[in-house]
Amino acid sequence: MLVSMKEQLKDAYLNGKAIYQFNINNLEWIKYILEECNNQSKPVILGVSSSAAKYMCGYKNVYSMVTNLLDSLNITIPVSIHFDHASDIEECKKAIDAGFTSIMLDYSSHSVEENIKYTNELINYINGRDILVEGEIGPIKEGSHADLNDCIKYVKNANVDILAASIGNIHGIYQGEVNLDFDLLKSIKENINKPIVLHGASGINEPMLKKCVSLGVSKININTDLQLAWYNGVRKGIAENPNVYDPRKVIGFGEQALKECIKEKLSLF
Ligand SMILES: [Zn+2]
Repeated sequence: MLVSMKEQLKDAYLNGKAIYQFNINNLEWIKYILEECNNQSKPVILGVSSSAAKYMCGYKNVYSMVTNLLDSLNITIPVSIHFDHASDIEECKKAIDAGFTSIMLDYSSHSVEENIKYTNELINYINGRDILVEGEIGPIKEGSHADLNDCIKYVKNANVDILAASIGNIHGIYQGEVNLDFDLLKSIKENINKPIVLHGASGINEPMLKKCVSLGVSKININTDLQLAWYNGVRKGIAENPNVYDPRKVIGFGEQALKECIKEKLSLF
C-alpha cells in the first residue's frame, strides 16, 4: 500500500531502526523490488531521480506504474514514492501533483541561505499535506564533510523532516577504503534532533551501516549496489545463453541477482 514516508520513518526513528530507499529505473525494477521487499515483509522507499523520472516518461507515469503494480502484485507492505535529489522547485511541484509522497530537495551546492529559501518555498507549496521533505547539507561527494553549524542553521530555519549530511559518504563506487566521520554524524544528530539519511550506502560494510544507524541514521539509500548486481546477472545470463534474444528474458537475467542483493540488505535491519 502507498503511504507517506513520514509514517514509515516515524516507526524506524522511534525504534532505532533504518528503512531502505532503493532507486527504480523501469517497470521490471519496480516489480523486482516490490516483490522482494514484500517477500521479506519490509517497508520500502522507491527513490526516483529526475533523470529516472524522465526515462520512465514523467512523474505521472512513475506514479501509475508503482500504484498499478502495488495492486496487481498484491503488495501489502508500506511503500512510498520519493523524488531523489531534486534540484528544481518546479519539478518538485510536478512530482507532488503526480502523487509522489516525499521530496528530497538538493540545494547543497548553494549557500545555506539559498538552501533555506528554496526548502521553505517547497514546504509552502506542500502546505500541510502529508508529504515528507528531505534536505541536504553537503554536498555528498568525495572529500566533502558537512559543516555542523550549517546543519543546525538549516534545520532551524527550514523545517525538514530528515537531513542528508555528508560524512565522507559518496555516490557510486568507493575508490579505496570507506572512511566515515562518525564523530560528525554523532554531533549532527545531537544538535538537530531529527532523523538522518545516509546517501551512497552502497559499498559500506555491515558494521559501519549498523554504527550509522546506532548514531541516528534512519534511512539508507542504495542504488549502485543494485545496479551492479543486476548488471552482473544480465552479463552472466547472456554469456550462458547466447541464443536468447527475447528482451523480457534478457532483462530478467538480472532479476535473481537483484533480488538476492535486496534480500541481503534487508536482512541487516
Ligand atoms: Zn543521494
